[in-house]
Amino acid sequence: MAERIISAKPREEDQALDTSLRPRRLEDFVGQDKVKENLRIAMVAAQGRGEALDHTLLYGPPGLGKTTLAGIIAAEMGVNIRVTSGPAVERPGDLAAILTNLKQNDILFIDEIHRLSRGVEEVLYPAMEDYALDIVLGKGPGARSLRLHLPRFTLVGATTRFALLSPPLRDRFGAVYRLDFYEESAIEVILSRSAYILGVEMEREAAREMAKRARGTPRVANRLLKRVRDYAQVMAQGTITHEVALEALERLEVDHRGLDDVDHKVLRTIIDKFDGGPVGLETIAAAISEEGDTIMGVYEPYLLQLGFLGRTPRGRVVTRLAYQHLGLPYPEKPESPQPSFWV
Ligand code: ADP
Repeated sequence: MAERIISAKPREEDQALDTSLRPRRLEDFVGQDKVKENLRIAMVAAQGRGEALDHTLLYGPPGLGKTTLAGIIAAEMGVNIRVTSGPAVERPGDLAAILTNLKQNDILFIDEIHRLSRGVEEVLYPAMEDYALDIVLGKGPGARSLRLHLPRFTLVGATTRFALLSPPLRDRFGAVYRLDFYEESAIEVILSRSAYILGVEMEREAAREMAKRARGTPRVANRLLKRVRDYAQVMAQGTITHEVALEALERLEVDHRGLDDVDHKVLRTIIDKFDGGPVGLETIAAAISEEGDTIMGVYEPYLLQLGFLGRTPRGRVVTRLAYQHLGLPYPEKPESPQPSFWV
């Protein structure tokens, strides 16, 4: 599938951009006020006691700032951070190697933590709970187990799919924070901050246009800004005026709500092939040759947020709003029969 400009998943081109634009302190982290406040209190309390922060789980759609927050936690606590991800930790031994290299109060950040294998998860349980690593020596009846003590560390886990986390793992986190899509006004602030760091001039109206199309996602906002900046540099002496922004955004084939051809494909597939739903997400995923996990973690949340998709016990339905957005007539479906009472 073609890469999407508005995809919230990180891409190679983001790396340099992410590093330069990533806020390093809590005060530079825009929006998510409730999460920020709770996190601040937890950090100050832990520091006051001279302890490691509780194991912390961050969840929400991609590009909303989970990795950024993990880095901020480390910076604010004045400790080191070791970054890895669920799929990268393949064997229990890989995790054991990481754990034994941690120092007192260090942060271990595991992105996509729902993708850890069972075997690796089992090493994590005693590490999180008792700061211990159980090593089995030998095989069969003569096998012995050896317990290694680990320094007190903080596990920060991030996931786009909270529901896929196994309950024993979920239960071992002392704090769980959910990140939501950002308000357009917060995205505007993020865009202004980014434009300032990149040294580009930008009109307020231009930021507003980009914010509308950024799907409430800072990573998407920064990526749009980068594309619009390139366009402004080549076509308009560098300043991002309202007009330049509109022209540039027009070329990116992202509609005014931030939907691109893949979102349109999801909606059109449900409408054309499944009468507007209800239909299961796995079926939709198969119909457009995507993975169900990607649809649920990446595409669906924003369509739900816009109210373009609805969830029912029998599957997803396309809403009247989505028909309106696509310029299609909404097929009035017969109401389900109402119970009637004779008096
Ligand atoms: P996630 O880990 O949730 O996928 P990231 O933490 O990698 O998301 O965030 C992606 C990018 O978006 C970061 O590089 C950062 O520049 C920007 N970003 C995320 N959240 C914020 C925020 N609250 N304020 C400013 N920039 C942000």
